[in-house]
Parts: sequence; structure tokens; C-alpha cells
Amino acid sequence: MNAPTRTIAAQPDYSAAARAALGRAPAHFIDGAWRASEHGNTIAVFDPSTGREVARIADASPQEVDAAVAAARTAFDDGRWTEMPSAKRELLIHRLADLLEAHAAEFGELEAIDNGKPRTQAETVDVAASVRTLRYTAGWATKIQGATQEPIGAPSGSFHAYVRREPVGVVAQIVPWNFPLLMAVKKIAPALAAGCTVVLKPAEQTPLTALRLADLVAEAGFPAGVVNVVTGMGETAGDRLVRHPDVDKIGFTGSTEVGKIINRAATDTLKRVTLELGGKSPVVVLPDVDVAKVAAGAANAVFYNSGQVCVAGTRLYAHSSVFDRLVEGVAAAADKLAVGPSLDPGTRMGPLVSDEQQARVLDYIDQGRRAGASVVTGGEAIGSDGGYFVKPTVLVDVTPDMSVVREEIFGPVLVAQRFDDLDQVAKEANDTRYGLAASVWTRDVSAMHRLAAKLKAGYVWGNMHGGIDVALPFGGFKESGLGREGGLEGVQAYTELKTVVVAL
Ligand code: NAD
Repeated sequence: MNAPTRTIAAQPDYSAAARAALGRAPAHFIDGAWRASEHGNTIAVFDPSTGREVARIADASPQEVDAAVAAARTAFDDGRWTEMPSAKRELLIHRLADLLEAHAAEFGELEAIDNGKPRTQAETVDVAASVRTLRYTAGWATKIQGATQEPIGAPSGSFHAYVRREPVGVVAQIVPWNFPLLMAVKKIAPALAAGCTVVLKPAEQTPLTALRLADLVAEAGFPAGVVNVVTGMGETAGDRLVRHPDVDKIGFTGSTEVGKIINRAATDTLKRVTLELGGKSPVVVLPDVDVAKVAAGAANAVFYNSGQVCVAGTRLYAHSSVFDRLVEGVAAAADKLAVGPSLDPGTRMGPLVSDEQQARVLDYIDQGRRAGASVVTGGEAIGSDGGYFVKPTVLVDVTPDMSVVREEIFGPVLVAQRFDDLDQVAKEANDTRYGLAASVWTRDVSAMHRLAAKLKAGYVWGNMHGGIDVALPFGGFKESGLGREGGLEGVQAYTELKTVVVAL
């Protein structure tokens, strides 16, 4: 591998608001108040653009997790949230959206410092989508409906039967580090709209915006205990939440490996589970496209957020007639991408989230090389100033059995393959344990829809890749998940059906 070159600019200074958020004492948000860690165990938080420690958070003890669950349990059982008029619950969620919007710049900066993504993207994509998610989902609080149905085995009118949709109860929500705020909001918004109470555990690498969000929850006026935030490690704090007998449902977004652990652990008490897991999404390009346009789209599909996107378009399948030009175009886009520190306004791609993730991605690239893949561009770390940067990378000469083709790398690495007929490409694209997303690029409407039907993925884009609308159901086929978020389905996932039959 080439030696890393020092071409990364220095991270600009943090604002006073960011410094204040970084300097807060390690604490959990439990029952409407900040509780300092009782044992003093903390976890370091790093700025991935510099590799420097910038904050410490509490590493929750089992007792602290239990206290958060107890607060959520009481807030659910005593009716302070479930019995609140739904119009008021809707209003509170809107209030949280308004507060978040008012603090958009601060949240954008904090997310950039914590995760490494460019600040401009954090503000205009992550924070904006979080606000939109809260606003859209708030409306469901007043629109959750049941149904009436006449029993079919009795004379009409002799029974009154109806189906109620009730909140499922206390939900534990565990989220990853790639879109920390947005993932947290996508979890709490539908749960709150449905009338559930929540214990949220952000990823230990990126807890800062979830903690700041808890401040806004308090400011918005949510009753104590409705939203609780605990920080800590997955295998300890997360595991305690998952196994807790007073938790009724788990909403999890993260890796397929941990999703399986959680699903198994939840079985003991038959908790309801929604899992949003990993992906290895194909980008299928037919011969009739405008190659320059598709190259830009395919580059964005894989390099956005440094490739740390569950739906990232990481496997390019291009028709032989456009393959060479397309790979050249994606490589040119990769070379032009301004890689830099997250707070630099010129940065379009930041570092990876951690040194561990950087090492993992570089290791995958090496595995690809050793297996015979050729590096068209990238393939190495960049900068020598402590930041976790990896050059956007395009690999060709790959075969379906290579780990770079089969496994989720979660970094800026594209593997490109060619195909000659549509039936063959659908099979190749589906030759994966994942089934989260896919995209098809063509002007041929008929081919587009035929392929969309054949691809085994929960979300298929045509002539675009990326962007998940909160009003539409989102989730994975196969090992990419269980259940759906977004739209009405996403809210219903936090409800139970109750059938009531009364003899008249
Ligand atoms: P991860 O699975 O390592 O961790 C996710 C969360 O789970 C963290 O909060 C972690 O602390 C917690 N956790 C870890 N072990 C646990 C355990 N044994 N019990 C309970 N909780 C535990 O994932 P990550 O590395 O943070 O995130 C990257 C992964 O997330 C990728 O696989 C990506 O595809 C996936 N992801 C999926 C979606 C989606 O919507 N499908 C969205 C974003 C990310």
C-alpha cells in the first residue's frame, strides 16, 4: 500500500456552543432530569477529523439502565403520556421539531465533530431530515385508527366488535453512529406518536446530538420519563436494555450481526422487534443511459457520508457497452471529491467515524487486492494528522466470491462488475444475504419496472440512489432487517391490536 500522504487541511476551531456541549458532565437523561454517572465509568468521544478526544460520556451501569427503564415504565403505566389527548402529544412532537430547527446550526456542527461528516451536510441533510421526520410523524398521533367488524358467526347486530390500536408500551431504541441524530429521531418520533415511552441508547462513538436532543425534549415540555437517554457500550448497556423484562419492544438500527444477537435475546420474553440492518446494495446500469450523469449519481451513491450509509450503492453492475466509460467517470468523480475535515466548508467527504472503522475498510481493500481485484483509484489512507481518512476507492476485476463483493464494508469502496443481459444481472444483484436497497438506471420504462420487480430489496430507486422519504415504508428483505420504518407502517410498528367483542 502507498504511504499515506499529508493532504488534509486542519480542522477549524469549534464554536462556543459546541465547546459547551463537549464540556458537559457525563450523565444520563432519566425521568426528565440529568443524572450523573453513579460509578464514574466513562467512554471517550473522538473527533474523527483529528483523532483527538473531545468529550467523555457515561458508561451506563446495569442499575442506571434499570432506572431509565423504570422511569419509562412508570410514565407509560400511569397514563401521563398514553392518556394525554393525542392532539397534545402531536403538539409536543411539533414543539421538539421547532426547537431542533432553531438549533440546526449547533446540531449540524456537533454532528460533524462527533461523526466526521461535513458540517454543511449534517445541517442540510441530517438535521433537516430530522425536523421533517418529527413534523411528518407528529401528525400520526391524531390519526391512529382502529376498525369495526361484525363477527361472521352471529346474527348481525348481536355483537359489537371493534379493533383498537394501542401503544405497545416501553420501547428500547438502539441506534448506530452513521446518522446519529436522524436515526435517533426516526426511532423516537413514531414511538411517541403511537403513545409509547422510550429509552434511547445512542452509539457509544456518536452520543453528542442524542444528549443535546434530550435537553430539547425537556425544553419542549414532554412529561418526565417519556423520553430517557442512556449512554454506554452495546454489549453491556445495550444488552441490558434488550433483555430487560419491562421493555416491550426493541427498535434497533445497526449491523446484521448485532441485529441477530438482539433478535435472539428478545425471544426469551417475546419482545416485539424492528430491525434495520446492513446492506450491500446494487446499482444496475443499462446500456441506454447518459453515462456522465449516471457516473455522478453512482459516485454519490457510494461515497456519500464516506460510504457509511446502510443503503450505499456499493456494487455497480454496468452493461458491458457502458462499463469502461462509467468506471472512468466514477473514478474521476472520486478523484475530484474534496476530502477534508468535517468543519471545513469546502469538504464534501469527511473521515470515517473511528480508527477501528478506518482499519476495517483498509483491510477489506487489501483482501480485495490479495484476491485479485484491481484498484482503479483510491485504496489507501490519506493524511497523517490523526484523522481517519480513506481515499474514495473503485475496484474492478472482482468476482462474486470475493469478500469485497459479498460483505458490507461500510466505507467509500465501490466494486464494479459488467453484465450483458437483464436476467443475468438480476440474479447477480440478488446474490447476497442482504436486501436493503437497489437502484436501476435506464430510460427504458419497461426494463425499469421489470427489474424493480425482480430485485430482492426493500427500497428500489430508478435513475437515482439514496434519499429515504419518511412518508414511505423503509426496511430490508432477507438479512437486512425485520419490519418497516416510515409512513403509517412505521407508526403501526409501535402498536398492538386489541380486539373487543361485546355481546349486546
Ligand atoms: P453496531 O451494530 O455495531 O451498533 C449499533 C448499536 O448497537 C450501537 O448503539 C451499539 O452500542 C449497539 N450494540 C452493539 N452490540 C450490542 C448488543 N450486543 N446488544 C445491544 N446493543 C448493542 O452497528 P454500527 O457499527 O454502529 O453501525 C453500522 C451498521 O448499522 C451497518 O451495518 C449499517 O448498515 C447499519 N445501519 C442500518 C441502517 C438501516 O436503516 N437499515 C441505517 C444505518 C445503519
